[in-house]
Amino acid sequence: MARIDRKKTVAVKVGGVQIGGCQAVVVQSMTNTDTADAKATARQTIDLAKAGSELVRITVNNKEAAAAVPEIVARVRDAGYNTPIIGDFHYNGHILLAEYKDCARALSKYRINPGNVGAGRHHDDNFKRMIDVAIENDKPVRIGVNWGSLDQALLARLMDENAKLPEPLDAQDVMKEAIVRSAIESAELAESYGLSKDHIILSAKCSNVQDLVDVYRELARRGDYALHLGLTEAGMGSKGVVASAAGLAILLQEGIGDTIRVSLTPAPNGDRTEEVIIAQQILQSLGIRSFVPQVTACPGCGRTTSTLFQEMADDIGKYLRAQMPVWRDLYKGVEEMKVAVMGCVVNGPGESKHADIGISLPGTGEEPRAPVFIDGKLRTTLKGANIVPEFIELLNAYIANRYASKTPAQP
Ligand code: SF4
Repeated sequence: MARIDRKKTVAVKVGGVQIGGCQAVVVQSMTNTDTADAKATARQTIDLAKAGSELVRITVNNKEAAAAVPEIVARVRDAGYNTPIIGDFHYNGHILLAEYKDCARALSKYRINPGNVGAGRHHDDNFKRMIDVAIENDKPVRIGVNWGSLDQALLARLMDENAKLPEPLDAQDVMKEAIVRSAIESAELAESYGLSKDHIILSAKCSNVQDLVDVYRELARRGDYALHLGLTEAGMGSKGVVASAAGLAILLQEGIGDTIRVSLTPAPNGDRTEEVIIAQQILQSLGIRSFVPQVTACPGCGRTTSTLFQEMADDIGKYLRAQMPVWRDLYKGVEEMKVAVMGCVVNGPGESKHADIGISLPGTGEEPRAPVFIDGKLRTTLKGANIVPEFIELLNAYIANRYASKTPAQP
């Protein structure tokens, strides 16, 4: 693993998961089903947990949703998953949490957006009501500021103060200061109501990478609250993936961030678990945590005129990820394994020797043979139509031999 000095934050327990206190950076995600549909929401929560989401957030936006929460949690537990389930509250959280006591008890954490808890004197009253419920139920809270729903009273106050300065700051800088202050002042307010620091996580999400980096650096500099990182409204496809990776990587590399979420917009009917896979991949690419064996594959070029090696790299990557729910328990350390699938003789044997197990496929014009290297040594050469299943067989044997627990079974 890479040596990154993580910024020490106060540890927060969310169900059975610790966030902060220099524990591993935790991956989380959010459902997009109607929470009132307990069956569908539980099903998606289980899918996200299976994909490796260590926390799952669900929106609790109305009475029907609040009423469904205990059933959702029960269904997920009955399926064998202890994944903490977090409630996301906006506008009416103070009412729902107070009225739906089983919902408040069943959730592992409440997310409160200080920009959406009411205006004027109602702001503090509503915020206090939610904090009181958290204290009563011994639940942690994430104070989740979002620049799209920033506390307008605070922003107006800072804009006024700024206008009176001899050299006023740029409006964008005032906005970033308002985001940081909203998070920290809300956390201090929650503490003044009696919620301890080890029950508070902060986030301050922006949709622009540079703003995100500036805001989180400030948050980290000004306090030791556990931090949830994420680029909000990251968008669809490659834009969302790249922008999230760019923003999160800078901060994670600086040791900032205790839990991450990748807020991708899925394609219509797309797979929600994609955001979990990307969050894991960001952490694994940075060498912060390992989740699944990594496949090194070359990009291909004019030497690979068939699609065999692309299909093989894809098939093997999918196979490895699909096995992980079982392998995780059976084969300790398998998530650190490196597999190479290379397109031709130019870099194929070299890259394959660097991997734990690798195959160098024949490029155009080469003899139709695929040498397989294990632990840096040529083990065998495959040929014919069954190269993929035969390589997977070798891979399975390697994993069983290298990673199976050596502890003798108890009588
Ligand atoms: S390993 Fe061979 S096929 Fe792959 S990119 Fe390099 S030269 Fe091209």
